[in-house]
Amino acid sequence: EPVIRLTEAKKVYRSGSIEFEALRGVDLEIGEGEYVAVMGPSGSGKSTLMNILGCLDTLSSGSYRLAGADVDDFDEVELARIRNQRIGFVFQQFNLLPSLEAWRNVELPLLYARVPAADRRRRAEEALDRVGLGDRYGNRPGELSGGQQQRVAVARALVGEPTLILADEPTGNLDSVSTEDVLGLFDELHGLGRTIVLITHEQEVADRARRTVRVRDGLLHGEEVRA
Ligand code: ADP
Ligand code: ADP
Repeated sequence: EPVIRLTEAKKVYRSGSIEFEALRGVDLEIGEGEYVAVMGPSGSGKSTLMNILGCLDTLSSGSYRLAGADVDDFDEVELARIRNQRIGFVFQQFNLLPSLEAWRNVELPLLYARVPAADRRRRAEEALDRVGLGDRYGNRPGELSGGQQQRVAVARALVGEPTLILADEPTGNLDSVSTEDVLGLFDELHGLGRTIVLITHEQEVADRARRTVRVRDGLLHGEEVRA
């Protein structure tokens, strides 16, 4: 069974009497260990797709299976649980808590998962080691560069050993050096067998993934696989 299986996925937004079909029948399978970029212009449905894949929202029709679980009938509590167990998120804006030291940000998913405190600290520090921030455990986000902050966010995404890493424009706020840094980290994670979905509108970023699927007007529109 693939990690992700979307079948005839449709998403309709309603405001009053107006309906808008943001996903119009998407079929997508992503297997364990794949590194896939989702590309498309603004308004094509990328965020909607990200929200579905990330269990932040549910489909209007069709089905979504994540790691063998049927997400379609989940309520908010079940969605929150599968998000926390299965998915590591990386966002464009880093989404770190500014008052917390790096390791305290990284331990957050473990806190939600009720991991004991001593284990949380050890695992948070190991995750920071893995992203090359072994000397920055105690720094707050404001004391770190943008690239370092995004590496803290990647450590936070990894710490719970999620089934899927879901990154939404992770280099959108980074200069070219930090972009290379973060993309290099994703290359490494891919090499270690992690499953990664990276949403981007930048071709150079998408080129780093092994497979690119294109979204246009709520439909998948061709795909490329690289050697
Ligand atoms: P992208 O991330 O590719 O820019 P989105 O998934 O955000 O695309 O949006 C796809 C389309 O759905 C756009 O036309 C957008 O205006 C519309 N849309 C997104 N969210 C909503 C919403 N909550 N209500 C109504 N329309 C929405
Ligand atoms: P992004 O920059 O990630 O593509 P958007 O600017 O498309 O995000 O959307 C930001 C937020 O606004 C999302 O939560 C989206 O669902 C919502 N949204 C987008 N378009 C509309 C719309 N036409 N009506 C209502 N909400 C929308």
